[in-house]
Amino acid sequence: MKFKVLLFYKYVKFPEPGRFQEEHLKFCEANDIKGRVWISDEGINATVSGTVENIEKYKSEIRKYPEFSDIWFKEDEHNEHAFRKIHVRLKKEIVNASFGEVDLSKTARRLKPEELNQFYESGKDFVIVDARNDYESIIGKFKNAIAPKMDTFRDWPKVVEELKEFKDKTIVTYCTGGIRCEKASALLVENGFKDVYQMDGGIWNYVTQHPDKYWEGSVFVFDGRCIVTPNTKEEIKHIGKCYYCGKPTSYYINCHNQDCDKMLLTCDECKVENDYCCSDKCRRAPNRRKRIHG
Ligand SMILES: [Zn+2]
Ligand SMILES: [Zn+2]
Repeated sequence: MKFKVLLFYKYVKFPEPGRFQEEHLKFCEANDIKGRVWISDEGINATVSGTVENIEKYKSEIRKYPEFSDIWFKEDEHNEHAFRKIHVRLKKEIVNASFGEVDLSKTARRLKPEELNQFYESGKDFVIVDARNDYESIIGKFKNAIAPKMDTFRDWPKVVEELKEFKDKTIVTYCTGGIRCEKASALLVENGFKDVYQMDGGIWNYVTQHPDKYWEGSVFVFDGRCIVTPNTKEEIKHIGKCYYCGKPTSYYINCHNQDCDKMLLTCDECKVENDYCCSDKCRRAPNRRKRIHG
């Protein structure tokens, strides 16, 4: 059987999210739709999977609501469900930002993938900024992009402060599917940045159309559950470096000392050689995760 994964979001004033949540959960359960749907009075943000047939039904179900009738779905084929369960949750915000009200009418103009290619190819003077977290940009980013130090999206206002020197320049922001940039770019515009763009449909939209171009490395998708390596050119396939040997890689483990649990980027050989631990101390720690061999 063929499956599809759908990614979509929309910022829109949505009345009675509570009622929607109940109805929507029922619909998903009845039609074997899995994944997660966040709903709030500011809009919807979802990643779901299902059979091709059920995903078609799902799309019609969403478009039934006038607020969502023009939603753009990013669709990808898959061999199976990308999720085990369905969560339909009421949230305060559809992306965890919590940096206060942002005037979404100020969200930046959308830059199409081809237009970004033109920016690069014409030698245009522009600054491209990653609006995602560190662990995401360490394994992949656009060529010459600034990847600010961010633990969570809540750090973005600090980044805006740091970017002030580029206020009069052309700025392009990007994130995985575009949703974080709606707010990220609006905050730049609100703070007086003159010429701001956001990557239309995010990295995901770009790499599916233009692999082996200006995206370097890998991308976390489907809610960070999955790492995709869109490029085939060896030099831009992996840009992350193994914590132990420095070899290019895109794969993280958590240190198997459960009291440490540090995220480590490692190659296949080194993780085995080091017993899935970040240090000698952790290798000898009592509270190590059990591994199932075979
Ligand atoms: Zn290694
Ligand atoms: Zn450790």
